Amino acid sequence: NTFAEIDLGEALNENIRRCKYVRPTPVQRNAIPISLAGRDLMACAQTGSGKTAAFCFPIISGIMRGQPVQRQPRGVRTVFPLALVLSPTRELSMQIHEEARKFSYQTGVRVVVAYGGAPINQQLRDLERGVDILVATPGRLVDLLERARVSLQMIRYLALDEADRMLDMGFEPQIRKIVQQMDMPPPGVRQTMLFSATFPREIQRLASDFLSNYIFLAV
Ligand code: AMP
Repeated sequence: NTFAEIDLGEALNENIRRCKYVRPTPVQRNAIPISLAGRDLMACAQTGSGKTAAFCFPIISGIMRGQPVQRQPRGVRTVFPLALVLSPTRELSMQIHEEARKFSYQTGVRVVVAYGGAPINQQLRDLERGVDILVATPGRLVDLLERARVSLQMIRYLALDEADRMLDMGFEPQIRKIVQQMDMPPPGVRQTMLFSATFPREIQRLASDFLSNYIFLAV
């Protein structure tokens, strides 16, 4: 069981080789086929389990296989990412961004990160250059939505990383506000992946509100 046996698209498979990943970790082995099959997923995953690749690979692969991405029209400042990764902290967002960029090297898939506690101007400039996958913390994303600099109407993939930590940090209202803005595309278009180390009742409630017909994965 190696990555070479999973068809993620030539460019992504090449990047995985470049990163020296040979064998999928348990969460990757189980989650990737579920996501490639188009199913929603709620997965139990700790830090260090390889969960970043578990949600990045199906997203990058799916974007590469999807309809050719419409380039941003000139003069319009609102950007329309196709995938959103929500993460609790600036540090985690930066890590995810770094990994996602390695995986999307020479695929044409553009990754941008936006987190709080840092000046927004550079992030606005990064967004203006185009974004397919947006990695963001909930508070900063709400700010970008209120400024109408980001629209979530084209989101086809949503990954919530360390969902339990996001709730512990009090981000539930922001998360709900964000996901509400995705309810405009026809139902069934969006694919959602929820990762959490623990499964208290609040996380189960998020799962039943945001996921449809999902597979629960505990590895
Ligand atoms: P994560 O749990 O996503 O933060 O990943 C933990 C660490 O394991 C990171 O340094 C990854 O680059 C690395 N990693 C993830 N998946 C694999 C894999 N299949 N083979 C080798 N290293 C991996």
